[in-house]
Amino acid sequence: MVGLIGWPVEHSVSPAMHNAAFEALGLDWCYVPLPVRPGHIAEALAGIVALGFGGVNVTVPHKQALVPLVDELSEAARAIGAVNTVIVMDGGRTTGHNTDAGGFMRALKALPFDPHGCSALVLGAGGAARAVVYALATNQVEVTVLNRTPERAEALVEALRGFASARLYAGPLIADRLRKVGANVDLVVNTTPLGMWPHIEGSPWPEELPFPAHALLFDLVYNPRETRLMCQARAVGARACNGLDMLVYQGAEAFTSWTGREAPVDVMRDACLAALQGAA
Ligand code: NAP
Repeated sequence: MVGLIGWPVEHSVSPAMHNAAFEALGLDWCYVPLPVRPGHIAEALAGIVALGFGGVNVTVPHKQALVPLVDELSEAARAIGAVNTVIVMDGGRTTGHNTDAGGFMRALKALPFDPHGCSALVLGAGGAARAVVYALATNQVEVTVLNRTPERAEALVEALRGFASARLYAGPLIADRLRKVGANVDLVVNTTPLGMWPHIEGSPWPEELPFPAHALLFDLVYNPRETRLMCQARAVGARACNGLDMLVYQGAEAFTSWTGREAPVDVMRDACLAALQGAA
């Protein structure tokens, strides 16, 4: 047994994605949604150990709260300050990982996009941004983080400076900064929820400001598959992708850490798409 701890969890596509993968490989495993109220994560962790689970994924609002509760932390989980995957080992010891960073980097490289020697602009400074900036900075990408609340961008950059030697900058998410920073970057990553269903007209990029045509847009939003921001990027000829492959690859990394098997990513992607279509 494995599952997803969060609150709420009923709209997640992870059960469909992982159960399709188990079935494809003929593994006698099952992935279940595990709704856990805020403030009850310590009991939930003890519960999955007691029940003999192989591990869990963890989502909002418990990712940060798990950091001091697991027995061991991976370098990525420590740097990002959030656990999205727990492995329960024989004897009940727990290890906390963060597969968002690896999932993002694998999806980026699969496009293909070679981050070597690049500079990036990250929009937003929440939990997902932290994983993305960690992934980029540990691949020597220079990163500027612009956020509605600039203090949060500053705090993110400060927290990650100790883990990577890449140059990191922070500032407010305003048109003037987008224009100046955007003119010189190879990659723009949207980590805000703007544009996500049902508010699909939202975008962090002002309509009156052309998206930089030379940059690749990576939007972490995957529902809808074509976001408003992706349309803005494509309108000027820029390459653009959504966050579906990041979701699939972070799931694939978790799958492998639990089962020791290579994940069937095409099966997982198809299952996600089917689940998203069913939910729409
Ligand atoms: P979060 O921790 O709540 O952070 C949200 C960020 O977006 C914050 O920086 C926030 O700015 C900013 N923001 C929110 N509303 C905004 C608005 N109206 N205008 C400007 N900025 C706004 O959320 P998260 O966990 O990082 O997730 C962010 C998005 O990434 C979600 O859409 C999530 O579904 C997606 N995601 C995708 C994947 C994937 O695998 N594709 C993985 C993880 C997350 P403030 O700091 O000013 O509040």
